Amino acid sequence: PVAPYDSENIFAKILRGEIPANTVYEDDHALAFHDINPQADVHILVIPRGAYVSWDDFSANASADEIAGFVRAVGHVARDKGLVVRGYRLLSNIGRNGGQEVPHLHVHLFGGGPLGPMLA
Ligand code: 5GP
Repeated sequence: PVAPYDSENIFAKILRGEIPANTVYEDDHALAFHDINPQADVHILVIPRGAYVSWDDFSANASADEIAGFVRAVGHVARDKGLVVRGYRLLSNIGRNGGQEVPHLHVHLFGGGPLGPMLA
């Protein structure tokens, strides 16, 4: 990874229960919660439980089990929220040029209405 994992990042604190989150789904591999500053009617963040800085770190270093579990969880949340028929958007910001603010991998899930050209 570009930088070592910072275990004091805000999503690490949410995973440890040190900071509250509005959780919509959790399992062994993933946690999903509402974004604190929503950019769409539905704006959920899905994060792996493992300590991965970004999609780059995760895709290079996570186990196949972790990757499968996380990808399954993202799909599950979208289906569970009824977003599939009308459609939705997934996005992950990676690093400086991507505009990543929190250094724990997260996938933004946007939906609930027509989306503009770009979000987050
Ligand atoms: P990034 O820019 O890193 O892709 O996105 C970080 C996202 O995390 C932003 O959409 C921001 O609103 C959200 N966020 C930052 N801090 C918190 C927090 O403490 N709780 C929740 N639920 N979302 C947060």
